[in-house]
Amino acid sequence: MGRMEELVELLNKYAKEYYELDNPTVSDAEYDALYDELVMLEQFGGLVLPDSPTRRVGGKPNEGFRQIKHKERLYSLDKTKTIEGVGEWIAKIQKEQPVAFTLEYKYDGLTLNLSYEGGRLVRACTRGDGEIGEEVTEQVKTIKNVPLTIPFKGEIDVSGEGLMPLSSLEEYNRDAKVPLKNARNGVAGAIRNLDVKETERRRLSFFAYNVGYHKGIEFTSQHEVHAFLIEQGFNVGDYFKVVNNFEEIKKLLEEAEIKRPTLDFLIDGMVFKVDRFDLREMLGFTEKFPRWALAYKFKAEELSTEVKDVLWQVSRTGKLNPLAVLDPVEIGGATVSRATLSNINEIRRKKIRIGDRVFVRRSGDVIPEITGVAEECEGAKEVVAPAVCPVCGSPVIEKGVFLYCSNNENCAPKIISKIEHFCSKDGLDIDGLSEKTIEQFYNEFGLKSADELFTLKKEDLLSLEGFKEKKAENVIAGIEKAKHTTLTRFLTAIGVPNIGKKAAKLLEQTFGSLDKLMQATVEDIASIEDFGLITASSVVEYFSSEENRLFIQRLLDNGITFLQEEKHEGVFSGRTVVITGTLSSYKRSAAQEEIRKRGGNVADSVSKQVDLVVVGADAGSKLDKAKKLGIEIVDEAGFLAMLAE
Ligand code: NAD
Repeated sequence: MGRMEELVELLNKYAKEYYELDNPTVSDAEYDALYDELVMLEQFGGLVLPDSPTRRVGGKPNEGFRQIKHKERLYSLDKTKTIEGVGEWIAKIQKEQPVAFTLEYKYDGLTLNLSYEGGRLVRACTRGDGEIGEEVTEQVKTIKNVPLTIPFKGEIDVSGEGLMPLSSLEEYNRDAKVPLKNARNGVAGAIRNLDVKETERRRLSFFAYNVGYHKGIEFTSQHEVHAFLIEQGFNVGDYFKVVNNFEEIKKLLEEAEIKRPTLDFLIDGMVFKVDRFDLREMLGFTEKFPRWALAYKFKAEELSTEVKDVLWQVSRTGKLNPLAVLDPVEIGGATVSRATLSNINEIRRKKIRIGDRVFVRRSGDVIPEITGVAEECEGAKEVVAPAVCPVCGSPVIEKGVFLYCSNNENCAPKIISKIEHFCSKDGLDIDGLSEKTIEQFYNEFGLKSADELFTLKKEDLLSLEGFKEKKAENVIAGIEKAKHTTLTRFLTAIGVPNIGKKAAKLLEQTFGSLDKLMQATVEDIASIEDFGLITASSVVEYFSSEENRLFIQRLLDNGITFLQEEKHEGVFSGRTVVITGTLSSYKRSAAQEEIRKRGGNVADSVSKQVDLVVVGADAGSKLDKAKKLGIEIVDEAGFLAMLAE
C-alpha cells in the first residue's frame, strides 16, 4: 500500500470515529497534520483517490436518526495555520479591487442547521456529509438560546454551531460516571443522542453565523445577515468585525489568540468571509469549501500522547500529588512532558492507565491537563495509589480523596518547599534563593528548617557548585537584609495554615505585635472580619505547638526584627481605631494618617481588639458589628474634636 492509500485509510477511520461514533482517538491537530500531508501528495501527484477525505465534507449520517436532505449544501472551510497564509489569501482576493471581509470566531462544536417556516422552528439537522444530515429537532429544542419562534415569517435556514460551554463541561464532569473527553465531544455526543434528556443535561449553547436557504427576503452581505440574525433573536456571540487592511487583521488575529483561553467556549480559529454576496458569487465553491471564506486555525491546545508513568510528588503540605509523565508533545509552542492529575479518584474516573494514549490539553498558561483517554492500549497498567511516601518511605495516610505523607519531619520536598515558601516574594522575600539553591542547601548542608538560613556563612556557600565570590556575597546580603521584616511578611513566611498575605496583614493590623498575636484566643481572632472559626483555630493551634514556638524562638534569636512604624504619642496612644463610612472633612487615608500621628493603630476591620470606631456617612456592617461588640463609637464631629485636643 502506498503512502497515499495508507493516509486515506487512516483518515477515513479517524473521520468515522470523530463524525459518526463521536469517539475520536487522535486529536484534531494530529488529524490535520495527516490531512495536510495527503493534500500535498494529491497536489504533487495530481491524483485524488475516489474515497479521499479531501473530496468529502464530514461523515455519514447515523442511521438511528431520520435523514434529511439539506435545501442548500453545507460546506467545510478552507484553512491556513499561518498569518502569512491569511495574507496571501487576502492579497489574491484583493488583486483587482479592495474587498471587505468579515471576521468571526471559528467555533469548535457541532454544525447545526435550523429550518424556520412561518416564524416557527420546524426542523434542526446536523451537517452530516453536507448534503444529507440527521434530524435532531427534539435535541436542539433543549438548547435554551435557540429561538423556537422568530419574527420573520418566510422560509429560512439558519446555520451555526452547537457548543458545550466549558463551565457546563466542568460541572457535568464533576460528578459524571463517565467524564466527557472534551467540550467538542460533549456537544457532538449530546446532539447525536437519542436520549433527549441527556442532551438537556449538557446545557448546550447555540451560536448563529449564517443564513442558508431563504425565501421572502434578500441579503446582499454578511453584515446584513449578521444584523438580521440579531434582530430575529439569535445568539451571534460578541465578536464580529468588518476588516480589509492586513496590518489591522494581523493585530486582530494576535489579540483573538490571547483572548481565546479566557472564553467559556472552544474556538479553534478565526473565519474570514468576503462580505459582499455579489463578489462571493464570482468566487464560487470547490468540491469541499467556498472560495470566498478562509479559516485561520490557532495553534492546537490539545494533542494525544502516551502516559509513560505516574509519579507521586510530595507537596509542602505533605500531600501526595499524582503527576503523569508523558511522552513529550509540543502544545501551543511549549513541550509538555508532564500533566497534573488531581487525585486517585480522578485517575480512576477518567480510567487513565500507564501505557494508554490520552488527550492532553494546555490552554494559555494553565498547567497541562489530561482530559481523557484517547485509546486504550494493550499491556497498559492500572495506577496504584502508593502505600508509603515515595520520598521518605513513611506510611501514607488517606484523607478523603487525598493522600498524605505521615512524616512531618524528614520528608525532603516538604522541607524544601517550606523553606522556599519562607523565602518567597510574599514571605521574607530573600533575593537570590531559587528552588535549586535551596535544594543544594538541603543536600549539602542538611538544612532542615528556614531558621538555619541565618546561620549560613559566605565561606560555606563558596564550597557549593556554581557559587563564586559575588553570588555568595549576594545571597548572604539578601539573607541579612531579610532579617528586618514586617509582621505580615513573617506570618506569611512561617506558613501558618490558612494564612496568606491578606490575612497576615489583618492579623498585624489587629494585634500589632507577635507577642499579642501568640496570646490571642480563637474568639479574639474569629472576631476579625473575614476570619472564620476554622482559620482562627488553625492560627491558635499553630502557635500552641511546641515545635512551632521553638522555630519562632530560633528565628528571633537569629536576629529577626520587626519594622515598627515610628511611634507617636497623642490622644489615640495605645488604641486601635477603625474608620467606617465617608468623612466629609478628610479622605479616609488622610484621617488614618492623623490617627497614626497621634499614636493610634489603624485597622481595616472591626474586631474585639478594636478600641474605637469612627463613623462617617453611609456606614454599613462595620458599625453594626461595633455596636454588637460594644466598642466605643464616635461620629465625625466627635472625631474632629479628638483631633483638636
Ligand atoms: P472545520 O470544522 O475545521 O471547519 C468548518 C466548520 O467550521 C463549518 O462546518 C462550521 O460548522 C464551522 N464554523 C465555526 N465557526 C464558523 C463561522 N463563524 N462561520 C462559518 N463556519 C464556522 O472543518 P470540518 O470539515 O467540519 O472538520 C474538519 C475538522 O474536524 C478538522 O480540522 C479536524 O481537526 C476535525 N476532525 C478531527 C478528527 C479526529 O479524529 N480528531 C477526525 C475528523 C475531523
